[in-house]
Amino acid sequence: MKPSTIPAVLTGAWLAAVGSGETITEGHLDTVPGSCCPLCGHAFRPGEKGHTNPSNGSVTFNDAPSMKGGCTDPVCDACIIIWGKRFLLNLSKTIATLQGMWSVASNNDRAHFLLHPPEPPFVFVVGLAKQQHLFWRTPVATSRDVFPIRVGPHAGFVRRKTIESAWRLTPELLQLVADHEAGGPAKRSAPPKPSKAASTAQPHPFIRLDRDLVHPQHGILKPNVRSFLSSPGAPPQMRVFDQLTALECWGLAAIYNASAIADSPPPPITTAAPATALAA
Ligand SMILES: [Zn+2]
Repeated sequence: MKPSTIPAVLTGAWLAAVGSGETITEGHLDTVPGSCCPLCGHAFRPGEKGHTNPSNGSVTFNDAPSMKGGCTDPVCDACIIIWGKRFLLNLSKTIATLQGMWSVASNNDRAHFLLHPPEPPFVFVVGLAKQQHLFWRTPVATSRDVFPIRVGPHAGFVRRKTIESAWRLTPELLQLVADHEAGGPAKRSAPPKPSKAASTAQPHPFIRLDRDLVHPQHGILKPNVRSFLSSPGAPPQMRVFDQLTALECWGLAAIYNASAIADSPPPPITTAAPATALAA
């Protein structure tokens, strides 16, 4: 089996764990030549040792459909690390790269990484509940323009330029909708003033944006916006609002609610140890 980029990024998470002082227990189980890690799909090298599969025999484990192989086979070094409580609890809202890990817990950080994703490969996960398995179940990003994210049980691809276009076009869309309803140029609304109050989130054209992705009206456009977009006067670039997926609307929610969107990344949670640590 050709090694995929999945283990590479999980190795990045592993290196990040090593870089932050975590101890790696050496594998103790023989692996079958040509076999792969049942969680991430890492192709075992000849002679490489694996670890006891932590999902084996667990009555609470219900992510078997996401596994790449047999549930009783040994798992790889990276997966035994990301199975641990630190990843399940403390690193459940993060981006993992080969260089380290960054938090995406806040709107500001989510907005930054959605608009300025890191160099691939990377894994973008946001847990919605405690002890969700996220990393090994999330496809690895290989592009900065179209990349997968996982939000709790929901995984899918988002398009960076589509999200950015919708965000930048939002004030113009809302003004055009107001003009459309007024039958001519409507009063120009003042841009929102910066404030710590939650009510100052940027106005948007949706009935609801739900950060947990469960509300049935999440990502549904308001009726007056829908009416405008269906009218002959709607500019073609506004069609982007008809093309957004639920996950892209989730991303827009973070962007609309961000108090500041930095051009450069925040400090990492943890930096990857040198790759030589793998051989230690
Ligand atoms: Zn693995």
